[in-house]
Amino acid sequence: SSLSERVDAALRDVQDFPSPGILFKDVTPVLADGQLFGDVIRDLAERRRGSIDLVVGIEARGFILGAALAHELGVGFVPVRKAGKLPGAVLGLTYDLEYGSATVEIHEDAFVGGERVLLVDDVLATGGTAAAACELLEQAGAEVVAFETLVELAFLPGRERLAGREVHSTVVVP
Ligand code: IMP
Repeated sequence: SSLSERVDAALRDVQDFPSPGILFKDVTPVLADGQLFGDVIRDLAERRRGSIDLVVGIEARGFILGAALAHELGVGFVPVRKAGKLPGAVLGLTYDLEYGSATVEIHEDAFVGGERVLLVDDVLATGGTAAAACELLEQAGAEVVAFETLVELAFLPGRERLAGREVHSTVVVP
């Protein structure tokens, strides 16, 4: 079976997490399967080999995929974190959630300028997080080559939020 089918089969659906009415896609079984985790990282790497300077991961599961991918490609890793976690001087961007807002931050000296970066996360839902991270990376001087997500929830408008950007997902949930 295809990698997409294998990842899809490994995902665990958790009803009403983190709040009532939400169906949460849990990627931890993918990570716990050494063969599958390795195949996911090798697939990501082959698509990007030679075309990126750095991998950027979004806290927290984007760190797991992003760090493994950076290592596989032999390039560096840069974290995008939630507010207040990074120790150095930061650039931040606040974006709207369904209820309230959230802030993503990056070290302001993460890039010298013009680095080609690949942004990575586990799940693309409404796209608010990834869109904010892309904008933040550009403010910090990077060139966002593409956004890679393990799982895309296609019943939510994530792709529309990222219109004009290259978006690739291993599994699309219709
Ligand atoms: P968005 O900003 O609505 O696209 O939500 C994406 C962010 O929330 C990502 O950082 C995901 O890790 C997390 N997220 C949203 N929905 C899910 C899910 O069903 N499973 C795992 N993570 C999710």
